[in-house]
Amino acid sequence: MITQSKLCRIGVMGGTFDPIHYGHLVTAEVVRGEFDIDLVLFVPSGLPPHKDPRLVSPKEHRYLMTVFATLTNPYFEVSRVDIDREGETYTIDTLRDLRKLYGDEVELYFITGADAIAEICEWKDAAELVKLAEFVAATRPGYQFDQRIPEWFEQQGSQLHLLQVPAMAISSTDIRRRVEEQKSIRYFVPEAVEHYIRKNCLYMPKHTHTNDAGSEVFRCR
Ligand code: NAP
Repeated sequence: MITQSKLCRIGVMGGTFDPIHYGHLVTAEVVRGEFDIDLVLFVPSGLPPHKDPRLVSPKEHRYLMTVFATLTNPYFEVSRVDIDREGETYTIDTLRDLRKLYGDEVELYFITGADAIAEICEWKDAAELVKLAEFVAATRPGYQFDQRIPEWFEQQGSQLHLLQVPAMAISSTDIRRRVEEQKSIRYFVPEAVEHYIRKNCLYMPKHTHTNDAGSEVFRCR
């Protein structure tokens, strides 16, 4: 465990992580090295405001998969700030909560996908938000980033870093689809995450049947 008093730079890895995969882990590790970061905090979002909640897996499943995936890296930890906060998850609240926890001296680097950052002007309290941290947008190879976004950051007196991460060719959407189609996800996610997905029937087509007691229960295909 890294002690709080020694921390100077914290990477805040924000995402829905449904599920977390090797693309996320490689991104966090690359950013840690590039920016000399002391600790990367993975922050699974509680209730993403831009998504239909019926299509997002329960937050405790996403949190636990993130814990299993990050277990072996001493520089990675998982935060429950977004999981435990009531209501929709806004990054402004995430960064305010982390500032309260870690103090004003630490430098925060908010890391997420370029697709998400491309919408940042519409996020809650965007102008204040970008002053609370530096932002790192991870792109997939070949991704064309809208140049107006870095310009907008500059106008706000903040900084956006773009980082191409080849491993981000892996995507959560693709993994969910592969599980549903009963294809292998080995080497897409850490083994423990794969076991967790299988054990909890995540992303699988479910059908109901009636048990001996007459109640309707779900069963994986
Ligand atoms: P998303 O819309 O599901 O994802 C957009 C893209 O970014 C996807 O390609 C996704 O790939 C990738 N991505 C997501 N998290 C990533 C990460 N940590 N590192 C690298 N790539 C990542 O976005 P989301 O996951 O729901 O949200 C991302 C972050 O933005 C969260 O922290 C969320 O709270 C924040 N956010 C805030 C607001 C707001 O404050 N109003 C609005 C939207 C998002 P995968 O699908 O493979 O992960």
